[in-house]
Amino acid sequence: MQTNAAEVVRMQDLTHDVRAIDLRLISPATLDFQPGQFISFEVPVEGKTHLMTRAYSIASPPNHKSSLTLVFNRVDHGPGSTFLFGLTPGDQVHFKGPAGSFHLRDDAPRNVLFVATGTGIAPIRSMLHTLLPKATSQIVTLLWGLRAQQDLYYQEELHELEVRHPMFHSTVTLSRPDPGWTGPTGRVTALVQKRVKTVDNFAVYLCGNGDMIKDVTNFLRSRGLCPIYREKWYDKEDKGQ
Ligand SMILES: Cc1cc2nc3c(=O)[nH]c(=O)nc-3n(C[C@H](O)[C@H](O)[C@H](O)COP(=O)(O)OP(=O)(O)OC[C@H]3O[C@@H](n4cnc5c(N)ncnc54)[C@H](O)[C@@H]3O)c2cc1C
Repeated sequence: MQTNAAEVVRMQDLTHDVRAIDLRLISPATLDFQPGQFISFEVPVEGKTHLMTRAYSIASPPNHKSSLTLVFNRVDHGPGSTFLFGLTPGDQVHFKGPAGSFHLRDDAPRNVLFVATGTGIAPIRSMLHTLLPKATSQIVTLLWGLRAQQDLYYQEELHELEVRHPMFHSTVTLSRPDPGWTGPTGRVTALVQKRVKTVDNFAVYLCGNGDMIKDVTNFLRSRGLCPIYREKWYDKEDKGQ
């Protein structure tokens, strides 16, 4: 696969441990990708001479042809996380991709359900910004699991999308809210179980940790048959979602 080059042009701390960076494409100057796909970096590993590959979903929609946004969380001593958090504007990066089969499909007129944990919102953000301007009568729902109020981000953006596209609804559930939270509490799997009565007319996209993907898939299958597209990022660690 060809290696591409880009320049870091902007970084934004979305929370205490989630950062977004914007990359301006250098070579090639534009990139065709499907919303939901990822790019990958070869990153150094502390104390080792070899490099490791780490994948990051493109969080911006494909119509932003000359730039890409990535959204990622801090993982202590993680090679990928350390690499991305070490970048500053002006740095040049090399990456491969786009790649991946987790991408937006045309399942209209099925309603679309997106379920994310943590930064699993990244590919779904790209999909939402692509799907919503085109969707006509489909109901589009996002259920997103985060931990506490300090972990919230993109709330204003999602609200704006809801106002602009009345068939879109988004709900965040917090697994460990601080006092004062009036929204849903608990894991996102529980929210799916509460909200989804039938899957007959659904297409579902799941992104995030493996436990959520397994549990939500099992639940949806117990309710019937529908397309389920999944992107598992990691297997096990209690991130509270
Ligand atoms: C297709 C694909 C797309 C991805 N897109 C993104 C993205 O857009 N944003 C993003 O933050 N990550 C994304 N990831 C995860 C990313 O590739 C790395 O696995 C993550 O950044 C941790 O790598 P690391 O080298 O820093 O840590 P490692 O040393 O590899 O340690 C990873 C451990 O940290 C824990 N962990 C905590 N948070 C995460 C997380 N977000 N992802 C994976 N493991 C986590 C897990 O328990 C895991 O075992 C994606 C993964 C895949 C497979």
